[in-house]
Parts: sequence; structure tokens; C-alpha cells
Amino acid sequence: MTDTRHAILRGKREAARLHREFGMRERIEQDGGRIDVFDTIVKCGVPLLFKPLDGLLGVFIDVPMPGVMVTTKRGLSVQRFTGAHELGHCRLGHSPSLDDESILRRVPLNAGPDVKQQELEADAFATEFMLPPWLFAANFQRQGWTPAMMADPMVAYQLSLRVGASYEATCRSLMRKGVEVITRRTLDNLLEVPRRAIKKALLGGYEPPDFFRDVWLLTAKDENTVIEGSRSDLFVLKLTEHSGAGYVWTFDELNQTGFAVVRDEREGADGETVGGHVTRSITTLSEGQQLGRMVLAERRPWIPDGAPLGAFCVHYDLTGPEDEGLSHAERRLVLEAA
Ligand SMILES: [Zn+2]
Repeated sequence: MTDTRHAILRGKREAARLHREFGMRERIEQDGGRIDVFDTIVKCGVPLLFKPLDGLLGVFIDVPMPGVMVTTKRGLSVQRFTGAHELGHCRLGHSPSLDDESILRRVPLNAGPDVKQQELEADAFATEFMLPPWLFAANFQRQGWTPAMMADPMVAYQLSLRVGASYEATCRSLMRKGVEVITRRTLDNLLEVPRRAIKKALLGGYEPPDFFRDVWLLTAKDENTVIEGSRSDLFVLKLTEHSGAGYVWTFDELNQTGFAVVRDEREGADGETVGGHVTRSITTLSEGQQLGRMVLAERRPWIPDGAPLGAFCVHYDLTGPEDEGLSHAERRLVLEAA
């Protein structure tokens, strides 16, 4: 076996072992959400610090004890991938490593001869740990997505948000061996589309303060799942409204938890009802707490205390990206222990 194949196998095997050890697959298949990279580092007993690193994304040290540092200068998906790469170094018993941007671009099978074996192992670990084939399968099943639908940049982008990786890393992973959902040609087409264009299409007439922030499209299929993102993320909710029977989606619960509605429309021809239903499209962002439940209820507005026809609820964690110091995962553990 070549060194590269051996490295890939070794990285993948350790990633699968950690998934099993922490029961990640069962939890995610049931509740949604993504692989919690920082929580796993902390649970493995490895000190994890966030620092504004210069020219580096992450650092792994092994003396006097194993430890990981991740930059604060990048967004959450890059922080997560870097953390996974450094966790790989740690779990595979590697020598200390200073890792720069190249960890985001390297493809193990095409790595140049100057790339060290331990880097290939950590790369393979990071990809398999964050983006295992079963994580894609779980999202496809929940959302009713098919492989063919991944040719649509909007769908691939929504998948990337749910698995907590960058759009590019997600698209590349959809082509990799063992997943093989898209072809090279589809990948090239997907990567050509500017992220800004995808976000703009999702937001319709709403102009956000910037296009760095992510835009989630939430539907009934996300009901009761866990949404993990960043403080400035925008949410476009598309919900069926039974207006023919006098029910409308109301914002009381949403406003109470600090969500601001920035756009609100009824879709379909002039908002006309079709069979008594319309699609209500609500764009919102959190101006309040970063952890909680986003709840909307469908009510008859003239009977405010009447029983709602239905409710929509997702659990959210918008604490990303990580700030300087300890990770949110570690702070939570410290609080729980206190
Ligand atoms: Zn490395």
C-alpha cells in the first residue's frame, strides 16, 4: 500500500472510532445538527484555545502535554475544519504542527511529494470526521434531497450550513471517494457560482448589511432540529399558512426571544390562496440571545388566546464564530461543573 493510501486509511479509521465513541451518528440522525468539533476536543481532554494567530490557522503542540490552538481571524466553518485537523494530529500521536491555509486546499490523493505523512493523515481525519458519508445521508433523508438536487448551488449551500463546513469543502466532499454524489463537472459548476449570488437569491428583496453572513432557508423539514451557526446569520422561513381557514403565522414568541423580522411576504400569485394555503416567507435575524428556541405559532389573530393550529420550532446555537479564549464548549462544561 502506498504511503498516501495508508495515511488516508489511518485518518479515516480514527475519525470513525471517535464517531462511535461519542455516539455521534445516533444523535445526529435523530436530532439533526453537525459534528461538534470543539466539544469533542474538550471531551478528549485536550486543552483548546482560540487566539488571533498571524499567518496560521491552527497549532498542535505535544509538550508538556497535547494542546490545540485555533485562530479567531476566520469564520466558524474554517475554525471548525482547523480544529478537526489539529484534533487529528493529537489523536494520531503526531509531532507538533503549525498549520496555515494549505490545510484547506490540500487533497490527500493529489498532495505534492513535500507534504509530510502526518499532514495527509490529519487532512484525511478532518474530512472524514467533519463530513462522514452518513452525515450527508442523514441530511438527504431529512430534507428529501436526492443526489441530482446537489447540482443546484442553493441546495448544496443549504447542505453546507447544516453540516457546518464551508460551501467549497462541502461541494468537494460530495465528490470524494466513498460519497460520490456529484461528478467533477457538477463540482466545477457549483464552485463557479459566487456565494453572494446564492444568498441574494434566497433573500429576495431584502438587502443585508453585508453578504459575509450566512442565509438559512428553513422549512417544515427543519422542525425540531438543531441549527448551529453564527451571530449574524439570517433565516428565511418558508411556512405553509392556512389563511383560507383564517390562520396566520404570528411573531409574538419570535419577538420575545429577540428575533427581528426584516422581511415578510406571502408567496404565490398576489398572495392569492390556493386551496386555502399560501406560503409565508419570513426573513429574520437574532438581536437577542444566541442560544435558545425559535418558535412561531399559527393563530387566528382575532382570537389571540385561542389554541394555535400549529407551531414551528427549531433549537438554535448562534454562538459562532469562537472568540479569543476558551471555546463555548469548554465554558459550558465549566458552568455545568460549578
Ligand atoms: Zn497539520
